[in-house]
Amino acid sequence: MAKILDGKLVAASIRQKLRTQVDVYQQEHQKRPGLEVVLVGDDPASHVYVRNKERACAQAGIVSDTVKLPAESTTESVIEVVDHANRTDSIHGILVQMPLPPQIDTQAVLSAISPEKDVDGLTSQNLGRLAQGKPGLFPCTPRGVIALLDYYGIVLTGRRALVVGRSMLVGKPLSLLLLARDATVTMAHSRSRDLDQLVAEAEILVAAVGRPQMIRGEWIKDGAVVVDVGINRTPDGLVGDVAYQEAVSRADWITPVPGGVGPMTIAMLLDNTWQAFLNQERS
Ligand code: NDP
Repeated sequence: MAKILDGKLVAASIRQKLRTQVDVYQQEHQKRPGLEVVLVGDDPASHVYVRNKERACAQAGIVSDTVKLPAESTTESVIEVVDHANRTDSIHGILVQMPLPPQIDTQAVLSAISPEKDVDGLTSQNLGRLAQGKPGLFPCTPRGVIALLDYYGIVLTGRRALVVGRSMLVGKPLSLLLLARDATVTMAHSRSRDLDQLVAEAEILVAAVGRPQMIRGEWIKDGAVVVDVGINRTPDGLVGDVAYQEAVSRADWITPVPGGVGPMTIAMLLDNTWQAFLNQERS
C-alpha cells in the first residue's frame, strides 16, 4: 500500500515558515512583500483560484491586490496594467491568472512582465535561466513537485523519471528541474506511442495531462513514486490523471487529488513572491 505524499501538510509547514520570515523582516525593515494578481474575465474556476491565492497571501503576511478586468479587455489594456505594476515599488510579484480570454495575446502579456517580478516563472528570461541551470523564478507547480519529493527524502539522482505532459506551465519546466537534479528524464505527450510501456519503466512518474484517470494502475512499476498533477472535475468529484485506487497497491509513494500537488503550487507562489521581494530589496 502506497504511502501518501501529503501536499497539504508540507505546504502548511512551508507557509508557516514563510510567515515567520515575513514577520521578522517587517519588524526589522518595516516592509512586506506585495503581490498583484491580474484577473481578466469571469471564468468561475479562475475566480476560485484567485480567492485562494489572496487568502494564502494574507495568511503568510504578504500584501496582495487583485486587479479585475472585463472579459472583453484588449491585449493593450492588460499590458498597461502589467506595466503599471512593473513600475510600482510596493509590488514585488505579478501574476496574470491563466487562461486569458481568446482575443488576448497571452505571450505578449507574459513578455510584458518584468522578469524580477515574474512569480509564475513564465517569462522567456526565467524559462531560459531554468534551461541554462541558472538561478531565477521558476514555475510554481513544478517547484512544488520537487519540494514535495524533497520533503519526503525521495532520491532523484540517477532514477528514471517519466513526465507525461509537456506544457510550458508544468511538464517542460518540471522535466528541466528533474534533469537539474540528475534524474534520467523521459517526456511523453499526446503523440507518444506505447505510453503504458513508458509508464512501466518509470521509477518516478509525474502525470500532468488533464484527463481523468487515464494512467491505469496496472501500468505502474511496483515501488514507483507517483505524482499526480492532474485536476479533473467529474460527476464523482475531483480526480487526478492517475487511477488512484488501482495505483495505491503498486506505488511506494503517491500524491492524493486533491491535497497533493495543488497546495504545493500555492505555497511555491508565496515562496516565489518572497524570493522576488528579497532580490528586489537587495538590488
Ligand atoms: P495542458 O493542457 O497545457 O497540457 C496537457 C499535456 O498533456 C500536453 O502536453 C498534451 O500533449 C498532453 N496530453 C494530452 N493527451 C495526452 C495523452 N492521451 N497522452 C499523453 N499526453 C497527453 O495542461 P497543463 O499542463 O496546464 O495541466 C495538466 C493538468 O494539471 C490539468 O489537469 C490541470 O488542471 C492540472 N494542473 C494542476 C495544477 C496544480 O496545482 N495541481 C497546476 C497546473 C495544472 P500535447 O503537447 O501533445 O498536446
